[in-house]
Amino acid sequence: MTSTAKKEKSLRRLSELADAGLIGRERIAALQQVAARYAVAITPAIAGLIDETDPDDPIARQFVPDARELHGEPGESGDPIGDDAFCPVEGIVHRYPDRVLLKIVNACAAYCRFCFRREKVGPGRGALSPRALAAALDYISSHPQIWEVILTGGDPLVLSARRLAALAREVAAIAHVKVLRVHTRVPVAAPQRVSPALVRALRVPEKATYVVLHVNHDRELSPAARAACARFIDAGIPMLAQTVLLRGVNDNVETLGALMRALVECRIKPYYLHHADMAPGTAHFRTGIGDGHALMRALHGRYSGLCQPTYVLDIPGGYGKSPIGPNYLTADGTMIEDFNGCTHRYPPQPNAAPAVGDIGAQPLISATVNERK
Ligand SMILES: *Cc1c(COP(=O)(O)O)cnc(C)c1O
Ligand code: SF4
Repeated sequence: MTSTAKKEKSLRRLSELADAGLIGRERIAALQQVAARYAVAITPAIAGLIDETDPDDPIARQFVPDARELHGEPGESGDPIGDDAFCPVEGIVHRYPDRVLLKIVNACAAYCRFCFRREKVGPGRGALSPRALAAALDYISSHPQIWEVILTGGDPLVLSARRLAALAREVAAIAHVKVLRVHTRVPVAAPQRVSPALVRALRVPEKATYVVLHVNHDRELSPAARAACARFIDAGIPMLAQTVLLRGVNDNVETLGALMRALVECRIKPYYLHHADMAPGTAHFRTGIGDGHALMRALHGRYSGLCQPTYVLDIPGGYGKSPIGPNYLTADGTMIEDFNGCTHRYPPQPNAAPAVGDIGAQPLISATVNERK
């Protein structure tokens, strides 16, 4: 976009955001408290995606601080998914028997305003110390049930290729660990960081590496972001995507469908659609679960199976993630809903009357098929 500041370095100070036209100068004072509490950084790649003339820009909404972040709501928590109770040693979260999170760094390239770890992440909250990392790797080594290690943070890909290569080698040296998974937003927020050296760093012999991209809007998949993802995939690293359902960003079927299609076109399989967590000051981002169900039904009705993520809720208090529907089968398992919203008895009863709502509600396409028989 226009200013050189916006092109070359991340915007961190409110005055820089104002210079770049992302906030009005008159808002600086009101936002000081927000910026003091939650980290702010907008990378050149993200700034370049924002249309500052659009007050409802879905990219700006995700990254530009907002005074509403100071308004807490009952039920919100600085540890919304209950990681702290499952932290046996610094940097490890071990909630599910077969996999652990390894939070190697608490910084990100750009800070999402709805971040579920917003009380923990920020610049200067550096990487795990060598001593803490050694203890974390010891923990993994001494627990043979750990089949998968998930590098997260913060964003692990803010670390140098050299450090990531060393870490990947150490994890790969643990015989019972078969899968290395990396959770990142860097291909979107700072695509130039995905260098050939960084890709090589994560590709460890004899182990499977997966990269899971956090992406919420199809506009985030810029040509540079797509090229960064292609570098992973072409190197034999499959990619999945996780998306947070966010009010005013992607809570309509056109936007969500466009994102899922763009991902599949990039050879990235949509994995999870997260219901927004109850992180402090994020009520303005949360939808109802009913809204999520309506969107999932609409996605199922209109888009390829490849475009379907699983809608999940991380249960507050540390109980883990569960799929939250919608459900197409009745609780007693006797009725199933099709992609057009018609219900059918299961198992089918050839001599019984068709399910209520089946006739008349028949969609055009099945009617044509039936006529041809
Ligand atoms: C989300 C999460 C995982 C990964 O869960 P998957 O369902 O395998 O993607 C693992 N550990 C913790 C603590 C998590 O919060
Ligand atoms: S990239 Fe992830 S950890 Fe970093 S600010 Fe965004 S949601 Fe939080």
